[in-house]
This record gives sequence, structure tokens and C-alpha cells, in this order.
Amino acid sequence: MLVTSRAFLYLYPKKHPVDNILNITNLSKTYQSAGRTLTVLNDINFSVAPGSTNAIVGPSGSGKTTLLGLCAGLDRSTSGSVELNGINMSNLTEDQRAQVRNQYVGFIFQNFQLLPTLTALENVMVPLELRGEKNIKARALDLLDKVGLSERGHHYPLQLSGGEQQRVSLARAFSNAPKILFADEPTGNLDAETSDKVIKLIFDLNKEAGTTLIVVTHDLELAAKTQRIIRIKGGKLISDDKTVNA
Ligand code: ADP
Repeated sequence: MLVTSRAFLYLYPKKHPVDNILNITNLSKTYQSAGRTLTVLNDINFSVAPGSTNAIVGPSGSGKTTLLGLCAGLDRSTSGSVELNGINMSNLTEDQRAQVRNQYVGFIFQNFQLLPTLTALENVMVPLELRGEKNIKARALDLLDKVGLSERGHHYPLQLSGGEQQRVSLARAFSNAPKILFADEPTGNLDAETSDKVIKLIFDLNKEAGTTLIVVTHDLELAAKTQRIIRIKGGKLISDDKTVNA
């Protein structure tokens, strides 16, 4: 069960302003597989400035998705810590991490991850409802309008193209006006023209609302649009080219 937002605020008073929206310290992740220990992330350290745009790049299997999941509180590290908006995520339960995500985080997946039995509009309404907000239908329609899909609200995900599904998932991710948006290969399944639309929406959110962006991508053109490129190889951070003071 989700803790109530009042209990949540009591448990985790907001520190404002935070110097870094994200602090990753000595982060490691191992999996046990067939009796062997697989080290997927090995002692990763970096911090992210609020409002900055960041790309994480690296070969397949290097640990990028795992890293993004840990940063967003979708999973827990084996050791080290993740501090998101001043909250140490490492000691929280799954429900508490979900609560933090609901409040501060947007997440976009390469394969969209829309709920197939709900319409586009209903998919966008879910997080609004979870947060107990009012006028959720009107707000969800506004969000769909923002991504250019107000006419498609009654369609189910399978009735939409890949690009349209990704725009619905953007509307859903934008619904809590996130302080930080994590995107895992957001253009990986899209054609060039649709990719451009999706990238524009993501960067507009950064410009208009100051949302911090962290994008895992193979697309070097997309990475080059960000202020910073973090390279991961074999679970280690091998370079960090900053143009912002993080
Ligand atoms: P990338 O996003 O860079 O392609 P991933 O983070 O998806 O890399 O995966 C890194 C490594 O971790 C891969 O070898 C993958 O097989 C392994 N891995 C990911 N999730 C699990 C899991 N739940 N159990 C075991 N191994 C996993």
C-alpha cells in the first residue's frame, strides 16, 4: 500500500534547494546467476545538477539500463547509495521508493510500457489517480494535447503507432511535472522523423519546466544534444564529459 502523501512529507521533508538532484556514490550492483556472481555495475560515482541534460552511453550489456533503474529507484543497489532530490533512496522500501518516484520522477521506456487494456487517455490518468489528484480526465486530456494526441485518447495502445505510443508514455511521464526525467532508449524503436518529435518534446520539458534529463541512448546525435555524456563500459564509468557544473 502506498503511504499517504502527508505521511510521506513527514517522513521525507524536502530540502530546497538541493545542490544536486542526483548523487550516486560508490554504486555497485551484482546479480546471482547459476551459482555465480555477476557484477553489472562497479563503484559508479557521479552527481547531476538540477535542470541539466545528461546522456549515458555505452555498449550493449554495459549496465546502462541497470544504472538508470537504480537512479530512478526502480531497483536497489547491492552497495553504495542513490540520493534523489535530497532523499537517500538506498534504505527505502519498494513502496517508499514508488512514492518518491510518483512525486519527482518521470520514466520513459524504449518499449513504451503502456497498459494494453487501458486507452491512451486512461494510461495518462493512472498516475494522476494514484496521486489522488482532482479533474484527472481534463488534466490527462491537456497532457495528450501537449504531445499532439488529443484526438487519440480513446485508442488502445495496439491501435497506435510506435511513435504515438511513445508520445502517450511521454504524456504519462510528464503528468507529475517531474523534477527529473529518465529515458531509456526513448527513440530506439522509432523512425527518424518520429524520433525528432519525441526528442523535441523531451528537451522542451527541460527548457520550459527545468526538468533534469538523463537519457540512455545509442543515438550519438541525441547524446550530442545534451550538456554531458557519461560513458559506461563493463559496468564501470569510463568517461564523464561535462559542460555543466554538476
Ligand atoms: P545495457 O542497458 O547497457 O544493455 P543492462 O543494464 O541491461 O545493460 O545489462 C547489464 C548486464 O546485466 C547484462 O549482462 C545483463 O544480462 C545483466 N542483467 C540485467 N538484469 C539482470 C537480472 N535481473 N539478472 C541477471 N543479470 C541481469
